[in-house]
Amino acid sequence: MHYDVVVVHYHEVGLKGRNRHFFERALTKNITRAIEGTGFLKVRERPGRVIISLAEEHAIDPLLSALGRVFGVSNFAPAVHVDAELGPITEAALELARSATFGTFAVRARKGNTSFEMSSQQVNEIVGKAICDQTGAGVNLDRPDWTCHIEIVADHAYLYFDRRFGPGGLPLGVSGKVMALLSGGIDSPVAAWEVAKRGASCELIHFHGQPYSDPSSVRQASQLAAHLERWLGQNRLWMIPFGDIQREIVTAAPQELRVVLYRRFMMRIAESLAEREGCQALVTGESLGQVASQTLQNIAVIDRTVERLPVLRPLIGRDKVEIVELARTIGTYEISITPHQDCCVLFTPKHVTTHASFEQLAEAESALDVDGLVEKGVANAELAWRPEK
Ligand code: ATP
Ligand code: MG
Repeated sequence: MHYDVVVVHYHEVGLKGRNRHFFERALTKNITRAIEGTGFLKVRERPGRVIISLAEEHAIDPLLSALGRVFGVSNFAPAVHVDAELGPITEAALELARSATFGTFAVRARKGNTSFEMSSQQVNEIVGKAICDQTGAGVNLDRPDWTCHIEIVADHAYLYFDRRFGPGGLPLGVSGKVMALLSGGIDSPVAAWEVAKRGASCELIHFHGQPYSDPSSVRQASQLAAHLERWLGQNRLWMIPFGDIQREIVTAAPQELRVVLYRRFMMRIAESLAEREGCQALVTGESLGQVASQTLQNIAVIDRTVERLPVLRPLIGRDKVEIVELARTIGTYEISITPHQDCCVLFTPKHVTTHASFEQLAEAESALDVDGLVEKGVANAELAWRPEK
């Protein structure tokens, strides 16, 4: 089957009133970038959809997989393009029908912004009868084996049957920019993905324990960032050497407070760097009650360090099994489960309190030069080298 175009649909993007044009431009730009190098000819905006015209000699699978990762796309289909006239439409429908085998079928025509005179229902009936005559298959409007979609827009008609789902959400970039805290674990890449799905561009920040730990968490975060690029587009990954800061915390604080103190310093450094880089929120992969550092009491005292930016926790209500499932879909799961040394391992206490009190934390931090450590953390931030995907 030779296809001329891919028809791309979005729904939420189209509902944004006066911003609609801005959203559509962003979507078109993101689609063009995502399918670069896959041999398409042109990406065009048509009322309510985006049309990608295809070069003849190229396989379309790479283009279709890339489209399946563009946020804002609700569904898409490789299609045949003909003039909006009954003759060519019927011919094209019959050609599509020849490429499939089915016992029952339905024709679903829709019109948008066109002077084509016949109603959608008339098109359904005429094309349906032609397919019936050609194949001997019966019509079933409720549960057809095969559906021929016909979209008539202006003086064009697009026909397709192989419709696929996109990820939905909003085009990357329309919701501003965030700084996502990326560990080497399962949760944080999923959290960044969730916020990106709602249109936020992401910068990523990873805290590592070198020289006190091996480079495995750095490698892990780099690989995760490189993989996330398929969804997030270009994303920068900041590396923060955190070992010395952890060492100072260890000398100043009782064991069970350490993990919460580490998180408080991570948040302060992340907020400071985020502001410097023009990000409007922080993102973490916390899920309520999942581990000791994620009880409401501990989240509350960790949150108090972030003074100017909101902290987004898109996984707060998710179970681990749901997060794992998402991580598999995104493709980060296999990377995340590779054994690696978390930055905290060396200084990880045996016991972590589930209810750190603000007074205890403040007392422990009074022995530390908090501002100095945060400044040092930000000053040592480095943009990471990234492996090839
Ligand atoms: P994850 O699976 O994302 O590692 P987790 O279940 O291990 O999460 P925690 O260790 O409590 O949970 O970390 C909570 C959140 O803090 C992480 O989701 C991440 O956003 C951030 N975080 C933890 N460690 C680091 C790190 N080394 N660098 C950057 N962010 C981190
Ligand atoms: Mg972790």
